[in-house]
Amino acid sequence: MARELHCSDTGMQCDYIAKGDTDDEVMDQAKQHVMSTHGEAASAMSDQDRSKFMESARTAIHDTSVHDRQ
Ligand SMILES: [Zn+2]
Repeated sequence: MARELHCSDTGMQCDYIAKGDTDDEVMDQAKQHVMSTHGEAASAMSDQDRSKFMESARTAIHDTSVHDRQ
């Protein structure tokens, strides 16, 4: 069962969707996306804010099964 994270669910104005088979895979993709696309916002955060952000991102990950009927 695939998992996905909508960047907009983390509070960003962005339609990127990270996808993977596991939450860890999704988080790896999301981290790379945040660094390359939201690098400015990420570097403006304190370490504490950044880990809070990553924590809320992880809780926003959900199954794609609802949309994945092909
Ligand atoms: Zn984004």
